[in-house]
Amino acid sequence: MHAFYTDEFVLPLPEGHRFPMQKYRMLRDKVSQNLNGINLLKPNPATRDQLLLAHSPVYIDQVFRGKLSPAQQKEIGFPWSVEMVERSIRSVGATVDGVFSLIEVESKHQSHHKPHHKAAVNLAGGTHHAMQHTGSGFCVFNDTVVAARVLQQLKPQAKVLVIDLDVHQGDGTAAITQGDHSIFTLSLHGHHNYPFVKQNSDLDVALPDGTGDEDYLLQLENALSRTEQCFPADFVFYLAGMDVHQNDRLGRLCLTDSGIEERDNMVFSWLSKMHLPVVMSMAGGYFKDLDHLTDLQCASIGRLLRFSVS
Ligand SMILES: [Zn+2]
Repeated sequence: MHAFYTDEFVLPLPEGHRFPMQKYRMLRDKVSQNLNGINLLKPNPATRDQLLLAHSPVYIDQVFRGKLSPAQQKEIGFPWSVEMVERSIRSVGATVDGVFSLIEVESKHQSHHKPHHKAAVNLAGGTHHAMQHTGSGFCVFNDTVVAARVLQQLKPQAKVLVIDLDVHQGDGTAAITQGDHSIFTLSLHGHHNYPFVKQNSDLDVALPDGTGDEDYLLQLENALSRTEQCFPADFVFYLAGMDVHQNDRLGRLCLTDSGIEERDNMVFSWLSKMHLPVVMSMAGGYFKDLDHLTDLQCASIGRLLRFSVS
């Protein structure tokens, strides 16, 4: 299974900034030390043409040319820098390359075999707050929408499902794909959490503060079965945000380690049943204890790996 990393593209952040940039390198180290059968790769940068599948030319040029207003930079949460541009396009590129890795494998085996690889992972990504005309909430460009539409350029009939289980609503993804019936957005998120103005996903499940394993898993099971009834997906993007965990500083929900494990198992057994390929992105995670966070992320990638060869 291919895993795409972007931790070499580090953002210069002011001292004391709350974004845990070092988690990406820690995760790559753990994946390389603990998981056999993972091919760790540096992604290509997303191109301007690819970004245009989700974003307006004016906004893309503002980012590329360093013309974001102070208000726009504040909304994104990162100060503009050359490194920020590079990191943003590599992070989108990691999800796009995840798509390419599955499509390539599929075409090689097309005639007689089912594709051997059914999954790829972006060790970062899941930048679901990025809108068509602006960035927001640590998200500059929307990797999922760009990658979904790159896939649809290769396979024009493909119906794409986004399973967004990050604790924050996938508002950018929902807004950009509003009215696009070839992309179905499912978002399970904290009702009282950021973004405070929600968009309309195709299926939104808003959870109260303090939601624990049992209620969460029940809601997820219902959401997957409703999705199955109304959308014939061919390809899935899974945003596996760990910010639903009880230890997350920003999450407001109360999932435990085993709840996270069951969540993945529910998603992956549903994908197996539906014979769907998936690109997973790690999305949010803001624990104080980054060792614990990256242990959970690494375990999640291990489960994806087992799914991909099953
Ligand atoms: Zn989040």
